[in-house]
Amino acid sequence: MLIAEPYRVKVVEPIKQTTREQRKRCIEEAGYNTFLLRSQDVYIDFLTDSGTSAMSDNQWAGMMLGDEAYAGSRNFLALEETVRRYYGFRYMVPTHQGRGAENLLSRLLIKPGDYIPGNMYFTTTRAHQELNGGVFVDVIIDEAHDATADLPFKGNVDLAKLESLIERVGEKNIPYISLAVTVNLAGGQPVSMANIRAVRNLAQQHGITVMFDATRCVENAYFIKEREAGYASKTIPEILLEMMSYADGCTMSGKKDCLVNIGGFLAMNDESLYQRACELIVLFEGMPSYGGLAGRDMEAMARGIVESLDYDYIAHRIAQVRYLGEKLRAAGVPIVEPIGGHAVFLDARRFLSHLSQDEFPAQTLAAHLYIEGGVRAMERGIVSAGRDERGKQHYPKLELVRLAIPRRVYTYAHLDVAAEAVIRLFRDRDEVPGLKMVYEPKLLRFFTARFAPIENEERAKVLMQERQLAQS
Ligand SMILES: *Cc1c(COP(=O)(O)O)cnc(C)c1O
Repeated sequence: MLIAEPYRVKVVEPIKQTTREQRKRCIEEAGYNTFLLRSQDVYIDFLTDSGTSAMSDNQWAGMMLGDEAYAGSRNFLALEETVRRYYGFRYMVPTHQGRGAENLLSRLLIKPGDYIPGNMYFTTTRAHQELNGGVFVDVIIDEAHDATADLPFKGNVDLAKLESLIERVGEKNIPYISLAVTVNLAGGQPVSMANIRAVRNLAQQHGITVMFDATRCVENAYFIKEREAGYASKTIPEILLEMMSYADGCTMSGKKDCLVNIGGFLAMNDESLYQRACELIVLFEGMPSYGGLAGRDMEAMARGIVESLDYDYIAHRIAQVRYLGEKLRAAGVPIVEPIGGHAVFLDARRFLSHLSQDEFPAQTLAAHLYIEGGVRAMERGIVSAGRDERGKQHYPKLELVRLAIPRRVYTYAHLDVAAEAVIRLFRDRDEVPGLKMVYEPKLLRFFTARFAPIENEERAKVLMQERQLAQS
């Protein structure tokens, strides 16, 4: 059954479709990297669900109540109180966004040579772990790396993998376990309460801290309510509080489940860790009572947290994502199963099965989806995976294109139009040529790397050879 939008539209932002010729030129100018497109050239923007949410009238009203004092702002106190109440952590420092919290956490807890187990890597999370001399170890269940495995909690930790890592490297060299709820790069897949509890128990036996990447914890809570025995009659806030009770703290990107355009926080229960965070944050973010945010930003985030826990909001959010996914699946388009919480992930390996991984199938698919329908998506494959500390290319099993749905922004009609573009492209998939990377930045390369179609590249080579022949 269709769940209609649990809100009315009060303000509109016009968007315009471009012509195919215009889009071809735009994507070429952007080096076939959807991150480098101008927003005004995009019709439906599924690049990310990060910072793209529509705020409510209540949040905008809160923006007017910004207390822009340098220290001790009342909006900070409101945010602190809200995080305590709904997330259950005693201490909290705001940060400008999630990676600000990841930077603090990694610097505070990781020493060179440490291992940080997690349920699949995330780009910025792993980058900060490595920057501090740590090694990320993936302990997610094997099925999470298989786009076709249909499991209710595909983000779960494989406890045997975690246990054998602890045995191999020793608990002293594991500063914390990093548990993402949900798992972005696995397709927005949730972790069950039973698995969270089991991770907690194992960690406790070894005296290891558990830190959540809580970025999409409300979506995770919804899946637990929907799928896990014993939780159907619990409320979303009750489930969230229980989830968080198994962690020692969390990093949070407010740009996702807190329904704001900017913001984040680092939360914890340990007082001495909090004190050290307060010392460090001054260097990187700002005072512990604002952490790189304006007072109004903190107020909007505090209100966003409350709104995010409303059942009607989260049920509609998940329903929209599922609607798009089911439409694509019905047309035979290969997607990651089951459909996750924040996005539909196209399986580029199966979609463009004529391309090898070195031809960047997901990058190619994202570029051509833009040409086809003005729909902007994001590569989550070999380009995002990057290289290890010795410069060796990571070859991830999953080669995905993420259609992330911004919260409270698009209607079902937009989802229909986007689905039609994907389906048209799927019909013409055999004609899509692969890409070659022509510029590769050192860190987090997916943001700014540039590509060119292999076709043109090869044509250029042939032309050059011909010219050399003519000159000799
Ligand atoms: C977005 C994200 C982050 C980083 O948060 P930013 O606010 O973008 O800095 C960390 N982890 C996950 C799972 C994310 O999706």
